[in-house]
Amino acid sequence: MAQQRVPLIAGNWKMNLDHLQAIGVVQKLAWTLEEGKHTYDAAGAEVVVFPPFTDLRSVQTLIEGDRFRLGFGAQDLSQHDSGAYTGEISGAFLKALKAGYVLVGHSERRQYHGETDEICAAKVGAAIRHGIVPVLCVGETAEDLERHGASAVPVAQLRAVLGTLQADAELVIAYEPVWAIGSGQAATAEQAQQVCAALRTTIREVLGDAAADRTRILYGGSVKSGNIAGFLREPDIDGALVGGASLDPVEFAAIARFQKHVGV
Ligand code: PEP
Repeated sequence: MAQQRVPLIAGNWKMNLDHLQAIGVVQKLAWTLEEGKHTYDAAGAEVVVFPPFTDLRSVQTLIEGDRFRLGFGAQDLSQHDSGAYTGEISGAFLKALKAGYVLVGHSERRQYHGETDEICAAKVGAAIRHGIVPVLCVGETAEDLERHGASAVPVAQLRAVLGTLQADAELVIAYEPVWAIGSGQAATAEQAQQVCAALRTTIREVLGDAAADRTRILYGGSVKSGNIAGFLREPDIDGALVGGASLDPVEFAAIARFQKHVGV
C-alpha cells in the first residue's frame, strides 16, 4: 500500500440484509469502529458498505443523521440515465441519494447477467457522468488461470474499460479472482500483488503516471481479519473488497482496522 493512497475497505453485502437489518448492521459497525479508536481516526482507512438498492435510503439517512464516518455505494447501476429500462437504476438516482461509489462488473453480474466488457465500460462511463466513483471488478476464473495465467484476463478486462476513459477519471479497481470469491480460499498476498502490479502497469500505459499513482487497487476474495494484513503490506494493494465477512459488523470492523495487524 503506497502512503499517498488512502486505503479503502469495502463491504459488498450482495443480496443479503433487508433495510431494517441494514440499520442494525451499520450501527454496530460504526460503534465498533469508534469504540476501538485504533486506526479509524488515526490511520484514515476509508470504510464503505455496498447494501442492496432497497437499503440505500435507510443507510444514507442513518449515516447522515448520526454522522457516522462511513461511506456507502450501490452494487450496480444502469448504463442509461433514464427511460424505458424496467428494473434498472440510474446513476442519477444514486447520486441523489449521495452514494459515493458503485460496483461495476462484479463477477456475479458478469456470470449471471451477461455483463460484457462493453457493458462494464458503459456503466463505468455512466457512474463517472453522475459523479459517482466506479469500483470496477476484474478477475480470472479457475479455468482462465489454468489456461492463461493469473494476469491476462483481469488486465484485458481493465484495458477494455480504460480505453474509454479520460486520464483524469477517478475510479477504483477491485482485483477479485473468481475462484477465490466465497470459496474460503484466498489468493496469497504474493499472487494478488503480482496481478495488482500488472493492473497498475496497465493504467500507467493507458492513462499515464498520475492516474496509475492515484488509482486504488483492491484485492477481493475470501478476505478476513486473519489475512487482511498480508494483502495490505503489498505495495500495489490499497484495500479490500469483502463479501461474506462484511455481513458481520464486528469481523468487518476488524478487517477495517487492518493497520493494527500490519503493525504500523
Ligand atoms: C465478493 O463477492 O466481492 C467477495 C470478495 O466475496 P467473499 O469475500 O465472500 O469471497
